[in-house]
Amino acid sequence: MDVDVVVVGAGPTGLMLAGELAQTGVRTVLLERRLEPSEVAKAGGLAGQILQLLHYRGELGRFREASVSATGGRSGATDPEPAPKFPFGGLHLDFSRLDDPPMRALLLPQPRLEAVLAERAVERGATVRRGHEVVGLHQDDQTVTVDVRGPEGPYEVTAQFLVGCDGGRSRVRDLVGIPFRGTSLPEIERLATVTVPDSVTVLDDGGLAVPGVGTIPFGYTATERGVFACSGLGGTMGVYTAEVEATEYDADEPMTVAELSASVRRVLGVDLPLGEPLRMTRFGYSAKQADTYRAGRVFLAGDAAHLFPAGGVAINAGMLDSANLAWKIAGCVHGWAPAGLLDTYSEERRAAAERTLLHTRAQVMLRRAHGPGGDALRALFAELTTDEQPLRRLGALMAGTDAGGPISQGDPLVGIFATDRALHVDRGDPRFAGMLSAGRPVLLDLADRADLRELAGRWGARVGVVRAPKDERPADVLLVLPDSRIAWTAPVDEPGESAVPALQEALTAWFGAPRESRSPVPSSEGDAALSRG
Ligand SMILES: Cc1cc2nc3c(=O)[nH]c(=O)nc-3n(C[C@H](O)[C@H](O)[C@H](O)COP(=O)(O)OP(=O)(O)OC[C@H]3O[C@@H](n4cnc5c(N)ncnc54)[C@H](O)[C@@H]3O)c2cc1C
Repeated sequence: MDVDVVVVGAGPTGLMLAGELAQTGVRTVLLERRLEPSEVAKAGGLAGQILQLLHYRGELGRFREASVSATGGRSGATDPEPAPKFPFGGLHLDFSRLDDPPMRALLLPQPRLEAVLAERAVERGATVRRGHEVVGLHQDDQTVTVDVRGPEGPYEVTAQFLVGCDGGRSRVRDLVGIPFRGTSLPEIERLATVTVPDSVTVLDDGGLAVPGVGTIPFGYTATERGVFACSGLGGTMGVYTAEVEATEYDADEPMTVAELSASVRRVLGVDLPLGEPLRMTRFGYSAKQADTYRAGRVFLAGDAAHLFPAGGVAINAGMLDSANLAWKIAGCVHGWAPAGLLDTYSEERRAAAERTLLHTRAQVMLRRAHGPGGDALRALFAELTTDEQPLRRLGALMAGTDAGGPISQGDPLVGIFATDRALHVDRGDPRFAGMLSAGRPVLLDLADRADLRELAGRWGARVGVVRAPKDERPADVLLVLPDSRIAWTAPVDEPGESAVPALQEALTAWFGAPRESRSPVPSSEGDAALSRG
């Protein structure tokens, strides 16, 4: 065996996975076919539950440091992420109206994000080989062997597991023959931020006044040729078009101002002056999901496993795939994983992707609906989302935190992510920063339950213990998985005689049989301090 795990692809999913695996002591090699990291500005940032997971890992500061301001300059933000006005199917959902917004965003262009993730993976001990393309693989009961074309010729690597994080056209997926079903839209979208040219005036409401054209309202305009949107913001102009056109384009070829200008002309029928480009992206959309994310010792994650037909949430999904899979693979490599643990990855993450497909497919229909019927649909939808509850629900759906999925078993807390709201704590509560820093599960004790902490101690270093007593709590104790989902709870004041055996069952189901020897359990301390076992 050369290594424990081969990860294929150095996009956000593969880099996150390599870092997570290496942190848990898994010998990891990441193979990336490109010689240099891609500089193509795809995603503009991170949004959704992944930000809270990074907070629990104690790493959010590092990502904030690398973030940019709305005009593209370095932001180095240290404050919590702003609650965005997030595009949703031709509308903008205003989460800033909520005091604890379910959807957050950090402006961190994909090349910068990948640089931070690559640095993190290497620091933790992963090996990243660029210029190494996976061209074949075969597996048996014990190992998987990959054929690699490297700068110095072909070679093989043998590992216990392989994870294909190799994007929407995944070679790994094809090599193991997993079907990738769904639809592709013959549509191209273009998105840009440009400086405001002298001839254009940005109006107070974000609309634009253009000589010879008139006023172009803020937000989306659906026409027979597609959808146009603009916004004037902080001295810049955001411009977006979506056109139904079946033309192919080269994703590696950067978009130009001339290309965007021509698209605006086709969709809106006017010549819109555009300033200097600050950010330019273009993309086509597919709604697809792999039939399974596992074939023996081979797994799929990120775009290789799912493609969503609306923007802003794909990286969240891919990085959460990685967080879900890494500790399960680590459990197998270190020999404690219970039977069936690895299968839960595909089941859980496919269910999560189904939820993301649900809202992204709905967004496409909402955005594309043309004429008075489409306008009425959007107006009604916009009206509904001025109410707090539907807005909150949509935000949680977009963030990927709304549903418990396969493990929920009827407990409203089980299966969902441990958001601030679920834990009844203030947004970004510093006491919880770093709660999951070791990448291992944690028994979160909110009620000073020594009986349950002592039991968890029998799993030794496999399970951490965090004590944070608080009066107003959702449960006495929560078992939080390394990807920040809640796997089990002891309801408030549940007696030990039922809570202890229930916790024993949950710990055994997730983390295998306990160790024989007991490890020390943290003693009681002041309420403000978290103690880590
Ligand atoms: C224009 C555009 C804008 C976008 N905007 C957003 C956004 O705002 N928010 C958001 O969340 N998402 C956005 N996305 C989607 C986001 O970019 C993808 O979801 C994300 O890149 C997927 O990450 P990944 O790591 O799964 O795959 P990828 O980023 O595709 O990485 C796959 C890697 O695998 C490598 N590879 C492929 N085959 C092999 C092989 N055989 N051997 C070795 N290496 C291989 C590739 O070179 C590549 O580096 C956007 C996409 C585009 C195109």
